[in-house]
Amino acid sequence: MTPLTVVWAYRRTGKFAFHVLTGALETDARTVGVPIEFGNGVRAVVAAVQRALAQGYRVLVGWSFYSPDFALLANELREVKGQVDDVRVLHVAGGVHATAEPEATLRAGFDLVALGEGELLVRELVHTLNAGGDPHAVAGIGWLDNGVLRRNGRAGRAVLDEFPPFGPAHDRFGPIEITRGCIYACRFCQTPYFAGAAFRHRSVDNVRYWVRYLVGRGFRDFRFLTPTSLSYGTHTTEPDLLAVEALLAGVREEIGTERRLWFGTFPSEVRPEHVTAASLRVLKKWVSNKALIVGGQSGSDRVLAASERGHDSATIERAVALCGEYGFVPHVDFLFGLPGEEPDDVDATLALMDRLVERGAKVHGHTFMPLPGTPFRKAAPGMLTDEVRRRLRNLASKGQLYGQWEQQEVTARELAEVRRPGPLLPQRPPA
Ligand code: SF4
Repeated sequence: MTPLTVVWAYRRTGKFAFHVLTGALETDARTVGVPIEFGNGVRAVVAAVQRALAQGYRVLVGWSFYSPDFALLANELREVKGQVDDVRVLHVAGGVHATAEPEATLRAGFDLVALGEGELLVRELVHTLNAGGDPHAVAGIGWLDNGVLRRNGRAGRAVLDEFPPFGPAHDRFGPIEITRGCIYACRFCQTPYFAGAAFRHRSVDNVRYWVRYLVGRGFRDFRFLTPTSLSYGTHTTEPDLLAVEALLAGVREEIGTERRLWFGTFPSEVRPEHVTAASLRVLKKWVSNKALIVGGQSGSDRVLAASERGHDSATIERAVALCGEYGFVPHVDFLFGLPGEEPDDVDATLALMDRLVERGAKVHGHTFMPLPGTPFRKAAPGMLTDEVRRRLRNLASKGQLYGQWEQQEVTARELAEVRRPGPLLPQRPPA
């Protein structure tokens, strides 16, 4: 039987997903001994694969990417395959995009797709390949059979407490995921469609365990991953501030007063209706950040309703005013070019942004992208008029707006292009 090496096609965006997968492999007796390599870029992936092949291993190359990076990663795959063409190498793509667009992903040349959450699936897949078994038998695996998509269901969903939030044995760290899934159904967002329409929370005890571990490893900054920070502990739209405070107080007890606790800010955010005097008092007591990232998305109530955001524009304005009262600097996310946006809606958004900026807020600008798997997946890519671009650049020049909104306008168009299934590229049966 030929043993297996795992090579992650490891990039800056999406690297935390690999850390989680690494942690899942480290903590299963069947997979803990399988070597894992992190190949950053085509050259490093090729080198890692060649090394493993020379040592007599077969190789699983794992790819994970978000939809905007699909075209780029498909190119990298082609380059890797162009340099190492060996039946002992299997390229597997997982993550949000592969799950939403399995056929297009496979047609781009990946040998298998991993559908759904990665933790349980990666353990089964690596164990199966390492034992010489058939990967098609693993739940959540998809493949092309003479050009036709076949799939073996979808991977099971993880219980967060049962997995480390990163890969400690390989020194791969990241924010601690405290909540997965989302009960909201914003029509532009992939989260509920990928991770489910219910919250799954990591327990306070488990979070504290990993925070304690990080303190022992010398970390000084502690960040958390969640779709909506103030939803920690709840299963409804109503925040459970007792649960949030239990989490924050527990973390603070572990890290002391000198280390920094970041909550409601990068890489997560808060919903505007959750910003209340009571929630801000809790945050002020425990967190280190002065900035709060608030999801606003539009100044038009019509567009907010059409996107099923679950709040109106007045709520955004109230949240910003309250942040100011409690000494937080709100950074408000806006999404330009949402489907159905008319000139009046754009004017309402620009006017709201001006009012928020006057109150000391910063605007984080994004352009709408029709993401696979979402109800808006078939919508036209977000486009900005020259006038909107001029207004946004003006705000940016004054330091009041930041973000990738210009690049995302280009990416949105590319996404609309690549969502059409491409020609079938050669598939390789597993060795
Ligand atoms: S945008 Fe935020 S609140 Fe809305 S569905 Fe996505 S993760 Fe949930």
